[in-house]
Amino acid sequence: MSEQTSSKVDFSKYFQPPSLKDARRRRRQAVQIINDFSIPEDMAAIGRGKQYLIETYGCQMNEHDTEVMAGILEKMGYHETDDPKLADVILINTCAIRENAENKVFGHIGTLKTLKLEKPGLILGVCGCMAQEEVVVNKILAKHPQVDLIFGTHNIHRLPQLLKEALFSKEMVVEVWSKEGDIVENLPQSRRGHFQAWVNIMYGCDKFCTYCIVPYTRGKERSRHPQEIIQEVRELARQGYKEITLLGQNVNAYGKDLPDLQNYGLGNLMDEIRRIGIPRVRFTTSHPKDFDDHLIEVLAKGGNLCEHIHLPVQSGSSDVLKIMGRGYTRERYLELFHKIKDAVPNASFTTDIIVGFPNETDEQFEETLSLVRECEFDGGFTFIYSPRAGTPAARMKDNVPMEVKKVRLQRLNKLMDEFSAKSNAKYQDQTVEVLVEGESRKNPEVLSGHTRTNKVVNFRGPKSLIGELVNVKITNAKMWSLNGEWQEETQGVR
Ligand code: SF4
Repeated sequence: MSEQTSSKVDFSKYFQPPSLKDARRRRRQAVQIINDFSIPEDMAAIGRGKQYLIETYGCQMNEHDTEVMAGILEKMGYHETDDPKLADVILINTCAIRENAENKVFGHIGTLKTLKLEKPGLILGVCGCMAQEEVVVNKILAKHPQVDLIFGTHNIHRLPQLLKEALFSKEMVVEVWSKEGDIVENLPQSRRGHFQAWVNIMYGCDKFCTYCIVPYTRGKERSRHPQEIIQEVRELARQGYKEITLLGQNVNAYGKDLPDLQNYGLGNLMDEIRRIGIPRVRFTTSHPKDFDDHLIEVLAKGGNLCEHIHLPVQSGSSDVLKIMGRGYTRERYLELFHKIKDAVPNASFTTDIIVGFPNETDEQFEETLSLVRECEFDGGFTFIYSPRAGTPAARMKDNVPMEVKKVRLQRLNKLMDEFSAKSNAKYQDQTVEVLVEGESRKNPEVLSGHTRTNKVVNFRGPKSLIGELVNVKITNAKMWSLNGEWQEETQGVR
């Protein structure tokens, strides 16, 4: 099958569907850096007087892709709207990580059918990780003719050309490349935040955990050159951004694929970024296997590097970890955890855990609980295993009934909540530095933000504090958040 597939409907005859099998291949070809993005002349003003809306599902990577697509559309003259009825272009940026995320997207595509009937000129596009899956593309082709455009994660920079095709074609336009992926620099971005920003440091993943679809939908691990990243961070600092998050599916593998830099990893990059005058630097997502000592040494230097480590463990059982293909044991994870904790004593730790992996025994689940007891995580994301078609785990027979999985999840969540409450209690009567992000979701009279350790803090204060780093004294430490009082005059502790 060719790497590139671009065509109109008549699925079998005119274009090759995306292929997870092709996407799995790692040919070790050099990564191409594409630096010549431009909008074709005939599309440069096509959006003048028109509006767009992008709906985003899933992780930070998707949120940042949305910023890039918004940037491209704005360069073409479109303006953003949050009202689907006013939109001339609606893009649904999808997530494939769990079945219920996919179901939600299909439900939503269905509801847009009426809108498309009312407004036939509307361009409705589906992109993101789901678009990389053959089953999804097939389903859209068969059941959702209201969709005008499907494009994959490797095709974002082709949005102007694809939009042009969709605007002038009567049939569905599909372009999904099942390939390892390139790096496209200099794409426009319309950042959603004015004081917090995402910065991609690498793309893709080569870990192939047996349950995960990401290496298929996002391609191979490929790192941006440090110079490009540092330049971007310097520019954000110049613009007054207060916090950046370095993004990648497996940031700890950063640099391994850079041919001209030997032994340059995430630790080296963060050591350079540490010297840039931006108050807070975070990174996500970590993989324990690649988390090295140099990064720990750099994190221990503190400064603008925030004391929050998201370290997904997935299971506390070495046997389950082996079947998951995680590349570390329970013992190795714990050793790493304690090493980081010793080096950065104030750090908070969060994690991801999957329960009910195929054939997980009671004993193996108990090992997960005992690991949680040992680590006393500040928080985390817990899930019941969700099979993803095309992954090795989806082919495994599973003897664990759903009822058992649900009970395990409840027990795990109860334990995680206890430790969340315990760690939050340590903040009682402390004064902490908070980056004020906006009004609280529950009460617009209350402001909300995060500590450096990623704790949510709610407090009352003037709206002018939004976007500022302020000091807040914690007066009520709750299970998942902290309430406090704004300290106008005092210095915060971290
Ligand atoms: S490290 Fe594993 S879980 Fe994370 S994106 Fe890669 S394959 Fe998926």
